[in-house]
Amino acid sequence: MAFFINAKDIGNAYYHGLSDFLEVVDDDVKFNNVKEELNGTFGVTFATEIFTPVLQKLLCVDSLNEIVTGAHLRFGLKRLKVLNEASTKLIKNIPSYDARMSYHTTKDALSTCPLYYPSKGGVGQWTLALEKKLRDVGVKILCGRSILGMDSNDKTIQSLTLDDGVKVNCDILVWTVPLIFLFRAAEIKCKTERPSFVHTTLFHYVIDQPPLNQNHYLYCYEPNLLPFRVTLYSNLQSVISANTERHRVTVEVLSKEALDLENSKKDVWQDLIKMKLVAKKSNVLFQHTECIQQGFPKFTHEFVKSSKYQYDLAMDSFSNLSIQGKSNTKDWFMNDIFKSIYAEFGK
Ligand SMILES: Cc1cc2nc3c(=O)[nH]c(=O)nc-3n(C[C@H](O)[C@H](O)[C@H](O)COP(=O)(O)OP(=O)(O)OC[C@H]3O[C@@H](n4cnc5c(N)ncnc54)[C@H](O)[C@@H]3O)c2cc1C
Repeated sequence: MAFFINAKDIGNAYYHGLSDFLEVVDDDVKFNNVKEELNGTFGVTFATEIFTPVLQKLLCVDSLNEIVTGAHLRFGLKRLKVLNEASTKLIKNIPSYDARMSYHTTKDALSTCPLYYPSKGGVGQWTLALEKKLRDVGVKILCGRSILGMDSNDKTIQSLTLDDGVKVNCDILVWTVPLIFLFRAAEIKCKTERPSFVHTTLFHYVIDQPPLNQNHYLYCYEPNLLPFRVTLYSNLQSVISANTERHRVTVEVLSKEALDLENSKKDVWQDLIKMKLVAKKSNVLFQHTECIQQGFPKFTHEFVKSSKYQYDLAMDSFSNLSIQGKSNTKDWFMNDIFKSIYAEFGK
């Protein structure tokens, strides 16, 4: 199964779309919004027939003009599957096409992809393992504290004052939570709007039958189906799932308005059956629903402008400050965050 959308699924418009797609050769264009970017990258037909409905579903917006460039990349929409396997392999030798076309199978990619997910427990094991490593080398970790104040001199942060009154001297401050809390502690005035978020709801199911699909996770781009992403934990922890005969499935749903949870959990389950991810005869042993308060931000021009403003204000205010995580304005995915931290501190 390939990760990317198969452009042939749009029917007759595919051939027109393919012609538009192949005629795009200019890589060096500056786009003002994601709509222009998709037109200029995949051609107008594929942009209109494929990306527009998909992104309207995922970003919960009516118009892509208000969305910044690169927003589609947050949802794994970097490439399209076009042509056939053999021609794709040949044409992918040309970098401009390689960047926009996907291989037809992921066989090779998956066989070389190591599985970092813990064999027992959840991804929280990573945090616990990192915490242990830090404590083992003598790092003192204070949980449940907040920073109330900050002393600085000539743009250099000297110390932080915690909510229990303790002062912590500071050589360098690495900040990984929203910058608004830094501004409050440092008494810096920052007038920006709170970002608005797409409603993100997680539907967890424990079922008595293994999933019908071998992927660890997959995206659902179909506008008529509720799921945005489905994670099949049995494929990540096959031994535990087989031994316990309990199979965990988590579905992420993005929506413009808050969902009616009672009805949605039934609809999402029906969608999983329609998508042939779970057997119709599976019994749901346990179900839990979670609303993520600060899920996906709306990747609008205002949001990006305001994040950049906050980042610049913080960095201009202090010389011994490092901003990591998604507040650094360039990273979003965990692997990019790790790479940035490694680039700054790991070498
Ligand atoms: C719904 C959703 C799904 C995602 N899925 C993926 C994915 O599958 N893969 C991927 O690579 N990326 C994914 N991301 C992107 C995600 O942003 C990054 O993977 C990563 O979690 C960002 O790390 P971070 O440390 O910057 O932010 P976070 O992981 O959000 O960590 C910030 C932490 O700061 C804490 N915090 C906030 N305010 C305060 C405060 N005042 N005091 C103390 N603590 C505070 C929060 O509780 C949180 O624990 C997803 C994002 C969202 C919203």
